[in-house]
Amino acid sequence: MFVSLLTYTPEAERVVATAARLCYADVDCHTLAERSNPDDDRRMIEKVLAIGHHGVLEHAVFSFVTEGVSRALTHQLVRHRLASFAQQSQRYVAFDGGFDYETPKSIAAQPELAARYAEEMKRIAALYADLREAGIAAEDARFILPNASHSRLIMTMNARELRHFFHLRCCNRAQWEIRDLATVMLIEASKVAPVLFKDAGPGCLAGACPEGEMSCGKALEVRRKFSVLLHSPT
Ligand SMILES: Cc1cc2nc3c(=O)[nH]c(=O)nc-3n(C[C@H](O)[C@H](O)[C@H](O)COP(=O)(O)OP(=O)(O)OC[C@H]3O[C@@H](n4cnc5c(N)ncnc54)[C@H](O)[C@@H]3O)c2cc1C
Repeated sequence: MFVSLLTYTPEAERVVATAARLCYADVDCHTLAERSNPDDDRRMIEKVLAIGHHGVLEHAVFSFVTEGVSRALTHQLVRHRLASFAQQSQRYVAFDGGFDYETPKSIAAQPELAARYAEEMKRIAALYADLREAGIAAEDARFILPNASHSRLIMTMNARELRHFFHLRCCNRAQWEIRDLATVMLIEASKVAPVLFKDAGPGCLAGACPEGEMSCGKALEVRRKFSVLLHSPT
């Protein structure tokens, strides 16, 4: 899996804090932006996060690129309706030279099954090649490709949606591949906007696990993990 922050709103925290101030100020936006400073911005963002005035977080957007992730992951990702996506097409891109795919660790750990899994992928690639050879368009040949096949995409989310995404997808209840992706995204976003994402992450970071009886029961472990990931010097 490769995931990286491609670009983001410059001075994201200043923009969000200025938007929040604008709601309560009788001076113009430029004056407010000029008066902004990191300490005041931090206090203002902490205040809007605490009182739930989360609309202003939408003024900061973050674009990530990800590659080498399975279609099983990207299918979950695109359920997040407030995000924007551009995904490599299996219609316009033909995989005549074969396709890359993901092997879950659970399968890789069992050599005999892992070998059969790899063999099956080879068979699929061979059939795909035969279909293409017979003149079948990529848009139809792709029907044989598995959930495991790799994809690449660019996704853009605003800070409010990202925080929601991290809440759901950094959680132990989320599937491992999307959880790994969300965790790296949270680390990357926190580096450039530490105040906006200071308390972001799975629900149990903020208190009791919101999953109720579906809880993984590992809240302490999860809190420790994110404390190390987000607050260790790099
Ligand atoms: C652990 C886990 C297991 C899952 N299992 C399944 C499963 O078995 N089957 C399945 O189908 N899905 C499953 N999902 C996907 C899940 O149901 C959601 O589709 C996905 O997480 C996107 O969440 P969302 O709708 O809150 O987020 P987004 O689409 O990112 O939306 C963000 C928020 O905006 C608001 N919003 C967005 N659109 C609307 C709207 N049209 N009307 C009103 N409010 C809106 C809501 O408050 C929403 O929470 C699972 C997700 C998780 C995390």
